[in-house]
Amino acid sequence: MSTVQTDLHAALKKYFGFSKFKGLQEAVIKSILSKHNTFVIMPTGGGKSLCYQLPALMQEGTAIIVSPLIALMKNQVDAIRGISNDEGIAHVLNSSLNKTEVKKVKQDIVDGVTKLLYVAPESLTKEEHVDFLRSVKISFMAIDEAHCISEWGHDFRPEYRNLRHIIKRIGDDIPIIGLTATATPKVQEDILKNLGMNDATTFKASFNRPNLYYEVRPKTKQVDADIIRFIKQNDGKSGIVYCLSRKRVEELAQTLQVNGINAVPYHAGLDAKTRAKHQDMFLMEDVDVVVATIAFGMGIDKPDVRFVIHHDIPKSIESYYQETGRAGRDGGEGHCLAFYAYKDIEKLEKFMSGKPVAEQEIGHALLQEVVAYAETSMSRRKFILHYFGEEFDNETGEGGDLDDNVRHPKKQYEAKEDLVLLLEIVSKTNEKYKSKDLVNVIIGKENALIKSHKTNEQPFFGKGKYKENTYWMALVRQVLVAGYLKKDIETYGVIKLTKAGADFINNPQSFMMTEDHVFDESNDDSIITASKSGGASADEKLMAMLKDLRKKNAKKLGVPPFVI
Ligand code: ADP
Ligand code: MG
Repeated sequence: MSTVQTDLHAALKKYFGFSKFKGLQEAVIKSILSKHNTFVIMPTGGGKSLCYQLPALMQEGTAIIVSPLIALMKNQVDAIRGISNDEGIAHVLNSSLNKTEVKKVKQDIVDGVTKLLYVAPESLTKEEHVDFLRSVKISFMAIDEAHCISEWGHDFRPEYRNLRHIIKRIGDDIPIIGLTATATPKVQEDILKNLGMNDATTFKASFNRPNLYYEVRPKTKQVDADIIRFIKQNDGKSGIVYCLSRKRVEELAQTLQVNGINAVPYHAGLDAKTRAKHQDMFLMEDVDVVVATIAFGMGIDKPDVRFVIHHDIPKSIESYYQETGRAGRDGGEGHCLAFYAYKDIEKLEKFMSGKPVAEQEIGHALLQEVVAYAETSMSRRKFILHYFGEEFDNETGEGGDLDDNVRHPKKQYEAKEDLVLLLEIVSKTNEKYKSKDLVNVIIGKENALIKSHKTNEQPFFGKGKYKENTYWMALVRQVLVAGYLKKDIETYGVIKLTKAGADFINNPQSFMMTEDHVFDESNDDSIITASKSGGASADEKLMAMLKDLRKKNAKKLGVPPFVI
């Protein structure tokens, strides 16, 4: 080992007690120590904090760490203080400090005691602070959660936009380190541009989280009971349950409590004090479970969260990845369990209906990927990584066997004939039905709407009644993902035939459909499992379809659909 390497390892051991660097940490730290602008993209739990903490401790002067959340800064400062005899080694500078406290912080910096100064972006806008920081030795500036700078990120903070300007004022030649867990290219581009660091050396880690187990279960009326059962099986472990609405958060937290589970609610409708209290209770392990909206989570540094449950499916794969990423940050087990019902997708679609069409189209594209994820028979890890542009082989890749689809392969059916029938019916009934009514025509279930059109429908009415309603509904969903049908946005979900769909009618090919959770025809001879013949090629087909779908969406929307 060279001296630099030996020094680095010695410092790692001395300050953090670790004997090995994680992933790209060492390379990142070397880049920072050689004063390069550095851009770090690592998944949640990848160990980004150490990338700036260690070089800050090793160098002369004070490193400024910009971070969006007070709770997050407090956590880190406490941890750093634990490794030194001098409390002054790390400080937070924010608006909650009184004059004397601010004076003490500044004195410690002047005395060269403070190695890390955590600031919220809004505190950096204060003239007196900027003037002071200009006058002292700054080793570098780290911008944590740098995706907050981008409107395309999942947590845009306007104050982040001023950072470049302020950094310039504090010192033109101070190296900048940007860190984020957002994997999408658009956000990365925004970060580099807005921080004015296009020359940065970029380090991007794999987004595989090999210790997380991914599972999707059907969401039924018994979902609360299912969640309670799961938590009881994981008694005493820390976990987060995400719900879409504040109301549901409150209700579910109560239901858990009456069932003897130590749980608290967390959402933006609670006052700041209650929120802080509930977060602390979770961090201090006074409660096992937080039931929360997405307001809970960013930067929550609780390393031993053992499960993340989604009571409601999120609106994009990226959000799902971020939220589940809070499990198993210490490298130990982490169970990511999502409850999925297509109804919830329709609910999310309804929420979007008032928005501008372009925004709706992005939203629909993102939701289609969520449906594909939930209903796929392929390795979920492979699916997620593919979404972030990473190839993953679940036979050889780390964590490749940790998901429900790999452990319990879903059945697949040859659905070519059914698909032709479905497409023909859509076409010949003049593309006027939403999915439910379409399926009603297929299975021959009359209602007022269908009655009013009946002459058109006569030849097709009930033609598919050899299969159940649920089967046809599942087929429609999977065919939407495959791109043979599409939902019309302007009319809120009327099903239309695509060009690919029209071609399919004339030139039908094999179409493997994945077993729906609800229907089970285990006596059917046409059943094969994904792990046997056909599984792999069906996966490949899905990949190809998704790629195609994304390309089309990218063209239409001007951006890849996965950038939000
Ligand atoms: P991120 O900010 O990337 O989400 P953190 O910086 O919070 O991740 O680190 C996640 C966890 O990994 C923390 O519990 C941290 O102590 C641990 N960690 C970081 N570096 C190492 C290392 N070299 N060896 C062992 N554990 C590490
Ligand atoms: Mg972090």
